[in-house]
Amino acid sequence: ETECEAILEAVDRIAARIESEKKHLTDLDSAIGDADHGANLDRGFKAVVETLDQKEDADAQDLVKTVGTALISEVGGASGPLYGGSCMHASQELEAGITAETTVAFAEAYLEKLQDRGGAEVGDKTMVDALTPAVHTYKKSIEVDDLPPLEALAKAVDGAERGVEYTVPLKAAKGRASYLGWRSVGHQDPGATSTLLILEELLATAE
Ligand code: ADP
Ligand code: MG
Ligand code: MG
Repeated sequence: ETECEAILEAVDRIAARIESEKKHLTDLDSAIGDADHGANLDRGFKAVVETLDQKEDADAQDLVKTVGTALISEVGGASGPLYGGSCMHASQELEAGITAETTVAFAEAYLEKLQDRGGAEVGDKTMVDALTPAVHTYKKSIEVDDLPPLEALAKAVDGAERGVEYTVPLKAAKGRASYLGWRSVGHQDPGATSTLLILEELLATAE
């Protein structure tokens, strides 16, 4: 399988997973937001699949950049510019293709852009709470523990899973959920949840 085929497979898997969890994501968003997160992402990833299907002769960097632009134009809300903008920005790190090194750089650039744009820190009850432990665990697994990328990604998914659970008791400090103040406590963040789903599908693709 080439890098491009792997990216297309990942995107197909993510789109299918988001479609099957559309209602779950929307239910989570109806508790602390405006009940559109599932629909936003479903629309976005369907557009991503369509856009990539029409693309020929692209390299990894190109494809991932296109994923980002499609998400920006189709998802909307708070999550569209965050998912799409981070993806677009981080795609630059894939110029040399997909390796352990470039994927660590991609993950770090993605997180950095996300925090830059959204201004959320760990503990604000957002997708940053799932992504941060995932990115840090991935980097450490590769650079310090010298694990192969697949094992590192599996550990990153575990990190994201803990991050999602960690959002439940938090009081939201960013995004729509923050309007609820203390009433946001006790609910799982939708964006952290979709981040975990996406990472799970990346892992499934790599396996
Ligand atoms: P909207 O809130 O505009 O309807 P979505 O429902 O698609 O957008 O996405 C909501 C999710 O976006 C939240 O669950 C949260 O994880 C994420 N989010 C919102 N604001 C921020 C932010 N400033 N930084 C990071 N993530 C954010
Ligand atoms: Mg919403
Ligand atoms: Mg909305």
